[in-house]
Formats: sequence, structure tokens, C-alpha cells
Amino acid sequence: MSNLPSEPEFEQAYKELVSTLEDSTLFQKNPEYRTALNVVSIPERIIQFRVVWEDDAGNLQVNRGYRVQFNSALGPYKGGLRFHPSVNLSILKFLGFEQIFKNALTGLNMGGGKGGADFDPKGKSDNEIRKFCTAFMERLCQHIGKDTDVPAGDIGVGGREVGYMFGAYRRLRNQWEGVLTGKGLTWGGSLIRPEATGYGLVYYVEEMMKYAGKGTFAGKRVAISGSGNVAQYAALKCIELGATVVSLSDSKGALIAEGDAYFTPEQIEEIANVKLARKSLTEFSGKSSFKYIEGARPWVHVGKVDVALPSATQNEVSKEEAQTLVDNGTLFIAEGSNMGCTQDAIDVFEGVRKAKGPDSIWYAPGKASNCGGVAVSGLEMAQNSQRLSWTREEVDEKLKLIMRNAFNNGIETAKEYVQSAEGELPSLVAGSNIAGFVKVVRAM
Ligand code: GLU
Repeated sequence: MSNLPSEPEFEQAYKELVSTLEDSTLFQKNPEYRTALNVVSIPERIIQFRVVWEDDAGNLQVNRGYRVQFNSALGPYKGGLRFHPSVNLSILKFLGFEQIFKNALTGLNMGGGKGGADFDPKGKSDNEIRKFCTAFMERLCQHIGKDTDVPAGDIGVGGREVGYMFGAYRRLRNQWEGVLTGKGLTWGGSLIRPEATGYGLVYYVEEMMKYAGKGTFAGKRVAISGSGNVAQYAALKCIELGATVVSLSDSKGALIAEGDAYFTPEQIEEIANVKLARKSLTEFSGKSSFKYIEGARPWVHVGKVDVALPSATQNEVSKEEAQTLVDNGTLFIAEGSNMGCTQDAIDVFEGVRKAKGPDSIWYAPGKASNCGGVAVSGLEMAQNSQRLSWTREEVDEKLKLIMRNAFNNGIETAKEYVQSAEGELPSLVAGSNIAGFVKVVRAM
């Protein structure tokens, strides 16, 4: 019996990583890495605080705030802030743990961290959001800095929230510094940062398609879950590359294209505005050409799709949903969300990858396929340090290169440490986990 409280999400992320390390030759080749694993699995520091703020009715409200400073071997702690009622230490430790290895895979010098609060932005006025963000930063500001810890957005934290927190930091510390990323363009943000996670995800899948000899996005059917920043830009990039996007979802339900219907870029933009106003997908004016299924996720409703991009939140693909995707002939699954698939779902995909050889389904874990967001955050930090802004093309080119390198790193590392059958596609799960782990451990 452990004397520690149960942390299901963190334990899931930890076990997922460890099972791939155990199944490889890593520990045989480097027995001392077992000790390193014990060290890396405990955060360097956890900061917990209360956030007291005043709502529009003049009542005092209180929330729990956190920052998990997990690992700084590769650089300042880096990772987003999540504002969602479900936030607790288990979720932030899982996210921070994943972030360590994800950041390593970008090839940039960033450590791993995550933070947030159990604050629910839904239904709050702009004034209440500002008051909460200011109160949150009052407690966090002494623990962060451009060379110490650089937070950014995550679920519930977008450009507006980053702006309120950045303004608060500047006033409280009396200094302008690149302490947060995801800033607005006119006050230190980077071009392509809003698009980066979604674009990067699609660039990563392009590499998968190329390697597997399965063409390009042109003509492919893509199922996406979520309708936030990641899902929106992934959808727009898929459409730009000639694919059809046939689903989106939010926490209340899923929109599924029927017959020949698919989302247009204009519709994605309208949905972006609906979500910015924190409204539900039922408010989308074009919904008559789609089937809206309350309480559902897209996977068992989309029929045959070539690509599935879970881009909403953790554990959004179950074993049964994974099996349906396999049965329907899906070729590529890549997570835009963090830990989008349950371990059972990963086991289904990995099982098929092994069993079916070259024709198999291919699964990419979020720590590799969604690293484009934090990568461009790293580029934003670099631009802030230089007091320069790079062009859209420059940032996009760098993002593409980072995604290609993250993919190749996963492939090469899998080949080095994982025994596989002739003609089998390398495991991107094992390869990415080992590559990220080895880089961090060597730095430590
Ligand atoms: N929240 C994003 C992630 O999960 C971005 C973090 C960042 O830009 O620091 O990677």
C-alpha cells in the first residue's frame, strides 16, 4: 500500500511511458537509467495556492491554483496553464510529466511544467475572467520568469487570458519580459503560435503518410474531435491540403457530416467564434447539414475515415472506439490532445500495427504529434530574447522542420531500441517515449 494519494491520470501517463521503456532494450543497455526514471518521475517543485477574486455581484470566490515545475534539465520549465473545473494535481502532474518529454522532442531547450486552476471560465463575464487572471498571477508571479518558468495557454486559457496575466505580471514585477507565450502579436507574440499545435499535428501526419507510402492529405477523410484552438487549425490545414473534415465536437456533443457534406473553412471560422463566445456547438448556424449527436464523441459515428485526430482532451478514445476506427479502415491516428487515447485504445492500435505489418494502422502519441504548439512557444521565447519578430514563413518553416525531426527521431529511436518484425512500421509510441526520456536523462 502506498502512503500517497491516488493520482489516476498521472499514474496512467507514468505507466504508459514505463511500459514502453521496459519493452525496449533501453534498460539492458543502460541499467543506470532505472534510477534516472525514479528521479524524473518526481516533480522538482510543486506550488499550490489559493486564488481569491471578486465576481460581478461583489461576492468573494475562491479557487485552487497550481504550478508543477517538473523538470528543468533542458531549460526553464515550460508548459501551459489549464483553467477547468476538473483540474487537480493528478491531471497537472500527468500533463507536466508528458510535457517534459514532449518539449525534449521539439529539440529546443525547454524543461517541462504545467499549471492551472479549477476555475470554470464558462459563463463568466470578461470582467470576471480578468479579475481571476489578475488574482492568479498575483500568487504565481514570484515563481516564474523568462529564464525560470514560462507558462502559456491550454484548455480554458487562450490569448485573452494570457493577455490579462501578462499585464498583471508586468505591473507586479515592473518588467516586460517573455514570461508567458501565446501573447498577442502586437505585444510580443509570435506569428503562427495560435495555429501551431493544429498545423504541427497535420505536418506530423504528413510525415507518417510519406513514410508509410500512403500518399498525402489530398482526398482523405479526416475525423477530428474538439472544436478549440487545436481542432480548428488542424481542420483548416487539412482542408488547405485537400482533405475533407467530417467531424468536430465539444464537451456536450459531436457534429458529424452526413452523405457528401463536410466542413468549409468559413464554417470552421464561424465555429471558432462560437467557441470564443464560450457557447456550445448547437449555436453553429450551419448545423442543419450535419448530424448533431448529444453527449457523443465522433469516433463510432463518422463511418469510414482515413485519419482520426483526437484534439479535445485526455482519454477521449476508448478501447471500443479504437476498435471501431480499426474496423472502419482508419490508417492514421494522431493526438492533438494530451493523452487523447486510453491505454486500452493504444493497445488496440499498437496490436494492429504489429499484426498487420505494412498495411497496419499507425498511431502517434500527443507528446510527439502535438509538440508543435510548445515548439512555437519556444520560438516565441527566442524572438522575445532577441527583441525581434520573425515572418510567418520563417516560423512556419521552422515548425515544419521541428515536426519532421520529432517524427524522424521517433522512428530512428524505435529502430535502435525496439525489436520489430520484418516490414513492421516502427512504434511511434515507444520511439518517441524513449527519445524524449533519453534526452532528458542525459541532460540530468
Ligand atoms: N498547452 C500546450 C501543450 O500542451 C502548449 C504549452 C506551451 O506552449 O507552453 O503543449
